[in-house]
Amino acid sequence: MTQQHIPFDNSYARLPEGLFHRQSATPVKAPSLIAWNAPLAAELGITGDPDPMVYAGNATPEGAAPLAQLYAGHQFGQWNPQLGDGRALLLGEVVDRDGHRRDIQLKGSGPTPYSRMGDGRAALGPVLREYVVSEAMHALGIPTTRALAAVRSGEEVIRERPLPGAVLTRVASSHIRVGTFQVLAARQQDEALSALYAHTVDRHYPDVKDPVDLLARVTERQAELVAQWLSVGFIHGVMNTDNCALSGETIDYGPCAFMDQYNPEMVFSSIDRRGRYAYAAQADVIVWNMAQLATALVPLLPDTDAAIKAMTEVVHGMGDLLRAAWLKRFCAKIGIAEPRAEDAALIGELMQLMDAGQADFTNTFRALGRGDARDQFTDRAAFDAWESRWKTRLEQETHDPAALMLTVNPAIIPRNHRIEQMIAAAEQGDDTLFHRLNAALANPFDAPDADEDLRRPPLPDERVRATFCGT
Ligand code: AMP
Ligand code: MG
Repeated sequence: MTQQHIPFDNSYARLPEGLFHRQSATPVKAPSLIAWNAPLAAELGITGDPDPMVYAGNATPEGAAPLAQLYAGHQFGQWNPQLGDGRALLLGEVVDRDGHRRDIQLKGSGPTPYSRMGDGRAALGPVLREYVVSEAMHALGIPTTRALAAVRSGEEVIRERPLPGAVLTRVASSHIRVGTFQVLAARQQDEALSALYAHTVDRHYPDVKDPVDLLARVTERQAELVAQWLSVGFIHGVMNTDNCALSGETIDYGPCAFMDQYNPEMVFSSIDRRGRYAYAAQADVIVWNMAQLATALVPLLPDTDAAIKAMTEVVHGMGDLLRAAWLKRFCAKIGIAEPRAEDAALIGELMQLMDAGQADFTNTFRALGRGDARDQFTDRAAFDAWESRWKTRLEQETHDPAALMLTVNPAIIPRNHRIEQMIAAAEQGDDTLFHRLNAALANPFDAPDADEDLRRPPLPDERVRATFCGT
């Protein structure tokens, strides 16, 4: 075994002390490695064999500067003045082989001053879910945090019942959240807020000139991100402002789910009782979240009235960004490379038919590209009528629509019932399905015969109706 080297270069640890609490992880009983993401490790410049002790938090690697990050946030619209890493620690940062700074974070690493009630631990199920789903999102081309390692802790965590514990190593281009800005604005810590602003600009938006410009750039990335989620049927499930990253990456895979049958009002999260974060609501909620970011950025500008006016304009402009991003993504899904405003109606009619017929979201779009989507619809006559209008529209395109559709419509997504089966097996010590899912989801636009069972929608008795944060 060759000793591992992680080329740490920690910049967050040099920010004002009020932004974090320095501490080490709490060791676990018997670490054993479940998964190691070798391609990601290579990207990060990490050499040598992974030591389970490091990824369980039992050993602090050389050069790390572990700390828990402070943040606040609106949870389901309610202000929570202090959240923070209650079960996670930033080990440190590396500059990857493309020159991008990346965070390496342990999740499930023990209590911190921000834990409040929780034990600071993570159960195996949520760790494996985050591993599989975040890596699947990456393979789909959607900006996201990544999974570097998963380790069994050899300890139990007590939830509704005792469960095996685990630690996830997450990689992000940063863990700066809307809630990180919010906590400093709320506490009127102007100097720390300025330092965080400078750090964020330097790290993610080096050409940004002022806070209004930063807001505009973040809204652009978030509009693109949400349009990408919608285009694959992804429901984040907990779009609180503390789970909304300035980088524009998907973060926090707690109660997330991909839908099987298309339903714009679909909600999986057991705690989302009013459907605040339902599938189609995501496009509205992200605007609300950006309004909270705008509010937190106002103290950075000398003239408050002018700042509010400029920020409001940016937030109000987000609807247009979202509509354009949605149109581009969904046009591609039906083979249109050059979107026109009137295509929105064509897509809307298709989605209505899918909703009415409870069509499988993923398989319907995939079948459209193969020319055999008719079976997915209950009202075949209505589909035939739609299809003929669609074909007429496609005649005006200059490229091959079927080829485009096969590169944007995945054949496979991480289906909820497979995730649940994977977790149940792993709780019994069998990681076969976990590894199989990771391998299949790494190439989501391929459809090998051997993975037919993973592409199939759930049978009635396999259907998952609710997901849980499971923290
Ligand atoms: P999340 O639902 O993952 O966005 O977490 C919301 C807040 O609860 C964050 O501040 C977490 O650090 C904290 N939290 C979640 N689970 C635990 C846990 N098991 N122990 C301590 N804090 C937790
Ligand atoms: Mg969170």
